[in-house]
This record gives sequence, structure tokens and C-alpha cells, in this order.
Amino acid sequence: MKKYATVDPTSGNVVQEFDSMTDTEVAAALKRSHDAYRAWHMKDLAERCALLQRIADLHRQHSVDLAKLMTLEMGKPIAQAKTEVELSAAIYEYYATSGEKLLADEELEIAGAGRALVRTAPIGPLLGVMPWNFPYYQMARFVAPNLLLGNTILLKHASNCPQQALRIEEIIRAAGAPEGVYQNIFATSGQVADLIASPELQGVSLTGSERAGSAIGATAGRHLKKCVLELGGSDPFLVLPAADVQKAASAAAAGRFGNAGQACTSSKRLIIDNSKWDSFLDAFLTEASKWEAGDPMSEDTRLGPMSSLQARAELAEQVDDAIAKGATVHLGGKIPDGQGAYYPATVLSRVTPDMRAYREELFGPVAVLHRVNTVDEAIELANDTPFGLGSAVFTNDEQQAAYVTDRLEVGMVGINTTIKSAPDLPFGGVKSSGIGRELGKYGLNEFANKKLVRTI
Ligand code: NAP
Repeated sequence: MKKYATVDPTSGNVVQEFDSMTDTEVAAALKRSHDAYRAWHMKDLAERCALLQRIADLHRQHSVDLAKLMTLEMGKPIAQAKTEVELSAAIYEYYATSGEKLLADEELEIAGAGRALVRTAPIGPLLGVMPWNFPYYQMARFVAPNLLLGNTILLKHASNCPQQALRIEEIIRAAGAPEGVYQNIFATSGQVADLIASPELQGVSLTGSERAGSAIGATAGRHLKKCVLELGGSDPFLVLPAADVQKAASAAAAGRFGNAGQACTSSKRLIIDNSKWDSFLDAFLTEASKWEAGDPMSEDTRLGPMSSLQARAELAEQVDDAIAKGATVHLGGKIPDGQGAYYPATVLSRVTPDMRAYREELFGPVAVLHRVNTVDEAIELANDTPFGLGSAVFTNDEQQAAYVTDRLEVGMVGINTTIKSAPDLPFGGVKSSGIGRELGKYGLNEFANKKLVRTI
């Protein structure tokens, strides 16, 4: 099979294959990006905003066919796929409508005579390397702020999303992007490394695994290129003594089983105070049972297949390892009969540090429940992970919420909510979850030249 291919996760069948680009084609794409940058960053801001608004409008106009392609290529239930298309549209629209405010010069208060201001300027051609789990949304977080700034984009999608990659390129062109401003590339890892090394390329943004992050980060470092890394997570979800258990249980189930558990900010580790253990376990198992697997093209399906048979096999190995070492299975935990990459909603407890499921990211519909006796024990367990992306803290005790917030080693804390991405909220993590932020004004500043203008 070729590297870039649509493989239907409901059957494992190869639907369509695509050729990777040659080195010459990749080099030509970089040259077009570099040439296009000269004119693009000098265009009126209003023109760049208008392009973003048209991209948003076209997402909405083609929502159903965009969503169907996502469901076909990575198995996301169609209703969740449509929600993702709308969120992506909202991101383009946010930067279209807030562009002027976000890019306004910042006047500095200075001790010396005259004036000093900071202008937010672009830096040049950029490369985005994107994952398959939210194909349109992940790219929107990178593409929208950078087209607004005046940067130009080469975009490498995950190899299992080629049809979406081509369709979204068509949409951006149809919206009126000039030649070379946005280009899809079907590139190999070696070509990605060569691009990062090229003097014309000014930065790279990766959303993906730690493995890809350390490879791309190392290449970027070697060639002194700015990089943003949005990597994995193993988000803690804390249910404290003053929690509303029912509210927490349904948020935890949605947070863990949405997108078949294949989200960086899925609620992967549920940490429950002893006083709430029995009631939470009951409520959570009831909620988890509602996440029955089905045909992802059906509007009623909440749990589709995982993205591939290989991804399912990796998850099953992690779960089997935990079970073999003594974990308790409350729900699921076995690959079902039949074709496709289906894995049932699974709930485990008594997961200990000697099990892979304790420390590794579980990238599928598997919830791990831990029981703790104190709030400090909950915090210690929450931080006992290489990751530091999102978190959720369920409690109606505001003081306790503030105490926990200050002690969690994460990039995002939700109080009585899981982290839900929005165009104007910064998104990102610490520790092995990555470097940098996306969305809002923070995302816009990552690949900006904060140019000082001093006037005497
Ligand atoms: P992945 O295997 O790392 O792939 C991500 C992208 O990187 C793909 O386009 C992949 O290309 C490419 N890639 C992989 N290794 C590379 C290398 N050495 N050089 C250049 N490119 C390389 O991750 P995934 O399985 O698609 O995504 C799941 C991971 O992403 C999870 O860990 C998840 O938590 C994380 N994620 C993080 C965030 C966040 O915002 N923090 C958001 C979403 C997902 P190929 O497909 O061609 O291999």
C-alpha cells in the first residue's frame, strides 16, 4: 500500500491510494510558497481577513461532504464530524473578524524620549504537520492565524487523511487564496526534515505524538527554526468531595469516549475522592454504557471505530497488559467479533505503576479510575505523568478549586467542565505535552515577528 491512502476503518479495506510527492515537487512547492509570501504579506489586512471569512463560509456550505470524508477516512461519527467542521469555520471566522484588533500596534510606555511601538509582523513560509484525529480543526488552529499574519503555508496532513487534505486545499483555493499561499504536500518524513532545513522555511508546527515531536523539534533546533509542538496528553479528571457526581459522570463519559477516545485532551485518568467513589462509579458506568459502538455514518452513533486496525491493536495491548497484571475491568476490555477497528467503551480500575496503562497515553475509549483519600493525594496522582496538557476539576468548593488549580502541572484547567476548545481560548500544554500555544492572541504570536519600531 502507498503511504498516503484512504483505508475505511469500518472494514480495513483500502479505498484509494495517492502518490507521495517527489523531492523535486516538494522543492517546487517551497519555492512557490516563498514567492507567494512577498505579495501576500503586503496585501491589505482587509483582503487577508476577507479570505479567512470566505474559507469559513465554504466550510459551512460544504459541511456535510467535508464531514462525510472525515467519517470515511478516520471513522469519526458523522454528528461529531459536523461539529468539528463548524468549530473549524468558527476559527477562520474569529481571525477574520478579530484580525484588526489582534494585529494593532502596541504602544510601549518607555523611560526614554520619543515613541516605541511593537508591530506584529509575519516571518515567511511555514510548514504544518498535522494528525488525523481532528483533521480540519487541527489545521485551522495553525492556518487561520498565520494566513491572517501574512505567512504562507505548506501543510502535511496525516497519511490516512489524503482525501480530506485535497478537499480542504480545494476549499482554500476556491475561497480565493493566491497561488502558493496555501499548499497541501504529500511528503515523507525525510522531505519534512529537508523542508525544515531549507533557508526559505521560517518555522514548523506539529500536532502529533511525542515521537514525532522529538524528531521534528530536534531538526528545527539544529536549523534554528521556530517550532510549536502540540503533543499527547493523559488528562486527569478530579472528582473532589464537593463535586456534583451526576454532572461529573456525564462530563467524564463525554470527555473520555467522544471521538472514540482519540483526543489529546480526553479525560484519560479519572481520580475520585473516596467519599464519592461508589456513587461516581455507578453513575459513570451508566453513562459509559450509553456509548455503544455503531456505524459512524449514522447520525445516532456516538462511538465509531478507532482510526485503524493498528491503532486498535496498540490500545488492546495496553489494556491486556493491565488486565494480566491485575487491573479490574468494569466494562468492555475485549476486541469484539466482526470486521472494522471497533473497540468498546472500557472502564478499568486498580491500575498500578507497573502497568503500561498507568503512564502511557491510552488513545482510545478506555477510562482508568483511581481512588484517593485526600485532595493532596489527588493532586500528586494527577501530576504523576510525563504529560501536562489539560485537566478537569469537579467541585463546588471554590477555595478547593483554586488550591488544586495552583498545583496542577498542566497548560489548561477546567473547573466543573472538561477543556472544550474555542477560537478565542489559548490551547496547549507543558512537560511532554509540547511547546507553545494555539488559538486566540497567543496562537497568533507564535509565528510573528514582534518588530520594535523606535522613533525619536
Ligand atoms: P503522529 O503519528 O505523531 O502523526 C502526526 C503527524 O506527524 C502525521 O502527519 C505524521 O505523518 C507526522 N509524522 C510522524 N512522525 C514524523 C516524523 N518523524 N517526521 C515528520 N513527520 C512525522 O500522531 P497521530 O497518531 O497522528 O496523532 C495522535 C497524537 O497526537 C496523540 O498523541 C495526541 O494526543 C496528539 N495530539 C495532540 C494535540 C494537542 O493539541 N496537543 C491535538 C491532537 C492530537 P504520517 O501520518 O505520514 O506518519
